[in-house]
Amino acid sequence: MKEAIVGIDIGGTKIAVALGNLSGEKLAIRNLPTQTEIGAYAVIESVSQAIEEMLAEHRLKPVSIGIGCPAPLDIENGLVMSPSNLRAWNNFPIVGLFRDRFDVPVILDNDANTAAIGEYVYGAGRGYRNIVYVTVSTGIGGGIIINGEILHGVSAAAGELGHSIVQPEGIRCNCGSNGCLETISSGIHIARRARERLKNGEASLMNELAASLEEVTAKTVVEAVRQNDSLAVEIWDETCRFLAIGIGNSISLIAPEAVIIGGGVAFATGELLLAPLRQLVPRYVSMVPADKINILPAELGGESGIYGALVLAKKTYLRNYQTYAV
Ligand code: ADP
Ligand code: ZN
Repeated sequence: MKEAIVGIDIGGTKIAVALGNLSGEKLAIRNLPTQTEIGAYAVIESVSQAIEEMLAEHRLKPVSIGIGCPAPLDIENGLVMSPSNLRAWNNFPIVGLFRDRFDVPVILDNDANTAAIGEYVYGAGRGYRNIVYVTVSTGIGGGIIINGEILHGVSAAAGELGHSIVQPEGIRCNCGSNGCLETISSGIHIARRARERLKNGEASLMNELAASLEEVTAKTVVEAVRQNDSLAVEIWDETCRFLAIGIGNSISLIAPEAVIIGGGVAFATGELLLAPLRQLVPRYVSMVPADKINILPAELGGESGIYGALVLAKKTYLRNYQTYAV
């Protein structure tokens, strides 16, 4: 039987599972809903069954598994530590479960890092050595690759651009700090800022676009921006400006060859987000020349993370293989 690497990308709403070969080609992919109500162990059981079915169907034998999962994680011990969209997964031994089931090496990293790796190897980051990946989605995540390696830092906490503070007097974030970038420019906070302004009775098309105040989302704001609604445009400008400050600070620290922007909000908005960022970011960076600031859209859409998980699996396999070979 031919050898396969396995990638798993765990999200709050869906889980993607992919098989690849050692040349880096993706052979099969399957998406499953994240049924949080059945409990973490049952979810991993159904993911394991899906992997077994896919392996049998393609007559493949697994050699390693790479997993991307929302933070916080204890990467060294292979544990999920109650991420905000998977609260009940606390001290959950995800690595041990897959290792016991498939008897292969298993590696875990956070989902922003796997997305960064996916873009670095297969997407917009190809050809560079140093990149910052930013995901603008429900929250804001980030991954930093330096000289071809992901930067983990202490407690694997590096790259958390969403929790860099851009407004010290700002509102409290889930993480406990005040004024994190995520509290302004993430999907849920774009919606929150719009709802607060609408609640004050300000006139806006958004009142007609959403059935009720509670149903105003980032998508509503963006639809209204496209129709030139002045309140929505104001909220969007602020979203872009603070994102530009956060990205600018990361450029001042790392001076990457490219900053790659992914995530649901970025995919849905495209140039509406990228054009202002290209214009604004250089204003917040003084030591890197403006013509060396390279802001690119992610190329792999929702699949950056699963590709990165496959890359991690392959690296783990090769590392183990080389250790045995010596
Ligand atoms: P996750 O955060 O679970 O990884 P996504 O990356 O898909 O999910 O991001 C979800 C976010 O994208 C939500 O905040 C949602 O409101 C926002 N979003 C989805 N569609 C649009 C759209 N058309 N315009 C603006 N924002 C959108
Ligand atoms: Zn925070």
